[in-house]
Amino acid sequence: MYRFKSGQFEDMILEQVMLRDAPDLYRLADWAERETILQDMRDHFDELRKRLARAPIHEHCSHPRCGKTAKWLTLPKFYRGGWLPDPYYWCGTHGPQETDGISPKLPIHFDTIKALSDKRSQRELHKRLREVLGITKGTRITEEFARRFFAKLR
Ligand SMILES: [Zn+2]
Repeated sequence: MYRFKSGQFEDMILEQVMLRDAPDLYRLADWAERETILQDMRDHFDELRKRLARAPIHEHCSHPRCGKTAKWLTLPKFYRGGWLPDPYYWCGTHGPQETDGISPKLPIHFDTIKALSDKRSQRELHKRLREVLGITKGTRITEEFARRFFAKLR
């Protein structure tokens, strides 16, 4: 277990920060990697990222006659460049009919937050992804909740 001793996440465990504020956590982890500091935090962070890839997905493929559990998402292009946090979900077989103005298929994972460049979009996509991973709107992400969520993904 990793608990932050100072800074914006002071007293929180990594699991809780991952669910509450992944965009800032990814930024912190990138920065720590560039500075080659906080190795212990980065190890725990990578472990949680691996576990998150095993989280059950509560969303179906957008193809009208499919209905399989989604594995991927695509994002529409924003007219000013970059992607909008307004995902469509796809199984391994299906994808958008058009590819123009649409992102490639990206994994349903918090890592995908990094495909977006502004903080607001990143926060919005994180919120959407949380719901897709079964964390319903309004859930209080307490330390206990976060710990249990990741414990189930071993
Ligand atoms: Zn499908």
